[in-house]
Amino acid sequence: MGRKVLIVGGVAGGASAAARLRRLDEDATIILFEREAHISIANCGLPYYIGDTIRERERLLVQTPEAMQKRFKIDVRTESEVVAVDPERKRVRVRSNERGEYEESYDALILAPGAKPIRPPLPGIKSSRIFTLRHIEDTDRIKQQVTVRKASSAIVVGGGFIGVEMAENLRQIGLEVTLVEGTSQILAPFDPEMANQLAKEMEQHGINLLLSRMVQGFRDLDNGIEVTLSDGTVLTGDLVILAIGVAPDTDFLKNSGIELGPRGHIRVNERLETNWPDIYAVGDAIEVVDFVNGRPTAIPLAGPANKQGRIAADHIVGRNQPYKGTQGTFVIKVFGLTGASTGNNEKQLKQQGIPYHVTYVHPNNHASYYPGASPISLKLLFHREDGRILGAQAVGAEGVDKRIDVIATLMRLKGTVYDLTELELAYAPPYSSAKDPVNMAGYTAVNILEGLTDVFVPEELQTRDPKTTLLVDVRSPAEHAAGHISGSINIPVDELRDRLAELDPSREIWVYCQVGLRGYTASRILMQRGYRVRNLTGGYKTYLAAQYSPGKIPAGQPK
Ligand code: FAD
Repeated sequence: MGRKVLIVGGVAGGASAAARLRRLDEDATIILFEREAHISIANCGLPYYIGDTIRERERLLVQTPEAMQKRFKIDVRTESEVVAVDPERKRVRVRSNERGEYEESYDALILAPGAKPIRPPLPGIKSSRIFTLRHIEDTDRIKQQVTVRKASSAIVVGGGFIGVEMAENLRQIGLEVTLVEGTSQILAPFDPEMANQLAKEMEQHGINLLLSRMVQGFRDLDNGIEVTLSDGTVLTGDLVILAIGVAPDTDFLKNSGIELGPRGHIRVNERLETNWPDIYAVGDAIEVVDFVNGRPTAIPLAGPANKQGRIAADHIVGRNQPYKGTQGTFVIKVFGLTGASTGNNEKQLKQQGIPYHVTYVHPNNHASYYPGASPISLKLLFHREDGRILGAQAVGAEGVDKRIDVIATLMRLKGTVYDLTELELAYAPPYSSAKDPVNMAGYTAVNILEGLTDVFVPEELQTRDPKTTLLVDVRSPAEHAAGHISGSINIPVDELRDRLAELDPSREIWVYCQVGLRGYTASRILMQRGYRVRNLTGGYKTYLAAQYSPGKIPAGQPK
C-alpha cells in the first residue's frame, strides 16, 4: 500500500502539487478536495473573459476532474470543503453535498486553500450589486450583469492588479468606469513615479481615477448602487467590483494547532512544512520569505504558488529542494502599456533600512532606426555597497516583460550591476539594441557606484537650496522653452565647454536633460573641470512622471 496524500485546494498550488506527486510516486493514493465546482481554473484569465478578449468560457478550465483522474489517477472531490484538520490524529473533516460530513486520514497533507477577497464590514456591503472576483462563478455573475442586465457603469474599488485589470476590461467593453483607491497611487509594487505612468494611461483611456479616497459605505438604489467616499464624494453606478486585496482562506485551520501568522497566513519553513510533521502548505495562503530583504511576507501570485506546489510534492517523496523565497516578479497590461517589476521597491527598501542607489534609463525597446521603436522607462535599485540588484521596475509599450525577466533572473542568481553590464543578450534591430536597456541600466549603475557620476532624484528638488546649488538644464533652448524645472538656467550640453564662466564653482551644479544621458555627459565635463556636480537620473521625463498627479483632470481629456 502506497502513501496516502490529501490536498486541500485544487487550483494553482494544489493542482500542481497533485500532478508532480503522481509523476514521482505511481503508488500513492492522492485525494484532492476543492470547495468549488471546478479545479485548475485560470483565475489570471478571468478579467480577460469579462472583457471579451478570451471569448470561450471553457478555455478558463485548464483541467477538469475527469482529465485529472484519467491522466494522473487523482481522486478529485469537488464541492467538498475541508472544514477541520486534526494533526494529532492525522485526519481531516470534509463537508460535501454529495457525501455529507466525513473524515479522511492521511500520511501527508498539503494545504493549498489560497486567499479570498477582503469584504470589509462597511454599511451596505451585502448589496447584490457588489462583486468580488476569485472563482469562475464570480466571473459568470459579473458577465451576466454586463451582458444580460446591460450594465453601463461600474465602480471599481481598489487599485491593485485585479482592480486595474477589471477596470481596463470593463472599459474595453464600453462601460463608464471609476476606480477608487485609498492610497495615493495605484499598483503598490511600483514606486509612485512609475505607477503614475500607468495611471495616466488609464485616464487617457477614459477611466475616472480617484486616489487617496476610502470607501465609507454603499447604498442600493432602485436602479443601481451608490458609493460614498471619505471626501464626501458620492458615486453611482450599475455595479461595484470590490478588489481591495485578499486574505488567506485559512479560517478552517484556526483551532487546528497549525501555526498561523498575524494575518492568518500559514507559517512554513523552507521545506514548506508547517509546525506539524507531514503537513505542508503552499500558495497564497502561506507566509513566505522576501527573497531580497529576508523578512516574512505574503505575495499572492500564481508563479510562486505553482513552484511551491511542486516543491511540497518533492519533499513528500524525500527529494530535498528548498524554497528560497519570493521575489514578487509581476507584470500587468494597462491598455497600451505594460508595467512590470521584480524585487523590492524604494518604499520597501526604506522600510527595511537597506542602503540603495537608484538609476533610471529610458532607452527604446529596439534600435531607434528600425520602425516602431518605443521607449521603456526602467528603474533599477541596487545596493549602495556591493551593487547587488535589489529591484527593478519598468513601464513601456513593448519589451518591458523581457527586461524585467532578465533582471529577475539575475537577481535569483544574486547578481550585481556589474553582471548587468556583461549580459550578452540576443540582438538584431527589430528586437533590441547592441546595448540592451538592461545593459544601459547596468552601465549607469556602475557609473554611480564607482563615483563617475553623482545623481539626484526628483524628490530631492524639493529640498534643493538655490544659494548653494545651481540648477542647469543642458537640453536645447527649444526643449527648455517647451517646459523645464522651475529655477533652472539653460546651457545646452554642446555649449557647456565654452560657457563655463557662467557657472559659479562655489555652488554645486545640478544638471538635467530629457532622460539623463546628456546630463551625464555634462556632469563628466564639469567634474573633470573641478566642479561638484549631480545629474538628475532619468532626466526631465522622470521628473514629469513624479510630478504627475492622477485624478486632477476629468477622465478622457488629453493631458
Ligand atoms: P487559489 O488559486 O485561490 O486556489 C485555492 C483553492 O482552494 C480555491 O479554489 C478554493 O476554493 C479552495 N479551497 C479553499 N479552502 C478550501 C477548503 N477548506 N476546502 C476545500 N477547498 C478549499 N497571479 C499572477 O501571478 N498573475 C496574474 O495575472 C494573476 N491574475 C489574477 C487575476 C485574478 C482575477 C485572480 C483572482 C488572481 C490572479 N492571480 C494572478 C493570483 C493567482 O491566481 C493566485 O496567486 C493563485 O491562484 C494562488 O494559488 P493557490 O493555489 O494558492 O490558491
